[in-house]
Amino acid sequence: MSVLTVDVTASGYGPVTILRDLAFEVGDAGRLVILGANGAGKTTTLRTISGMCRTEGSIRFGGRDITGWAPHRIAAAGIAHVPQGRGTFAELTVRENLLAGGITRPRREAAAEADRWLERFPRLAERSARPASGLSGGEQQLLAIARAFMSAPRLVLLDEPSLGLAPKITAELFATLDDLARERGTAMLVVEQNAQLALGIAETALVIESGRVTVRGTAADLRDNDDVRRAYLGV
Ligand code: ATP
Repeated sequence: MSVLTVDVTASGYGPVTILRDLAFEVGDAGRLVILGANGAGKTTTLRTISGMCRTEGSIRFGGRDITGWAPHRIAAAGIAHVPQGRGTFAELTVRENLLAGGITRPRREAAAEADRWLERFPRLAERSARPASGLSGGEQQLLAIARAFMSAPRLVLLDEPSLGLAPKITAELFATLDDLARERGTAMLVVEQNAQLALGIAETALVIESGRVTVRGTAADLRDNDDVRRAYLGV
């Protein structure tokens, strides 16, 4: 069973088409990683799913056709998007950021859920009353992820979570993502430049080049693919 089925013939910004004939699925509680060079169209793929692009074709989520839906409606349907650069609210406190992620839930329920996330991530709890701007890059990414999970999504879209983070912090972050996805049965679609780590937590993977899928398979298939090894794994 797939939670997400993308069958897009074209997608882009205004008159500019970036993606062509993009078709893939994310299994229920599945994990897909999308690899690709700078400018290949990875971010545009996530924005297309979140309803931010002019899109032709069809996108189905949880059995419903969500093509053409507004971003807020797609978010309410159960897709949480962690954008590149994290998108935390710098001036809001850590706790307020979490509450913002639970905006569609009853206030008391959201507050209890925020407390559970703070308990889970003591580094955020220590700074819960301080502005998010004071957090380190890794802590901000953790906050962005926790905020995404606050809406109890069925699918989380993550746009280059490793960007700007030290290798050790990135490795910890991917281990946390792996744990969260397993615990909650949440599907994940991760766009990453750090192919090694991303393939480590994915089941399936694809490579996008110039707006088209050029390689697809299981994460193990891609790790064994010579072109992928040369281009993305540096081996
Ligand atoms: P990166 O790793 O650099 O983020 P990416 O694979 O995520 O790259 P996209 O950000 O999806 O690539 O960009 C794909 C193409 O779309 C690029 O040529 C980019 O210049 C173009 N593009 C991105 N945003 C817009 C926009 N708002 N309007 C027009 N073109 C855009």
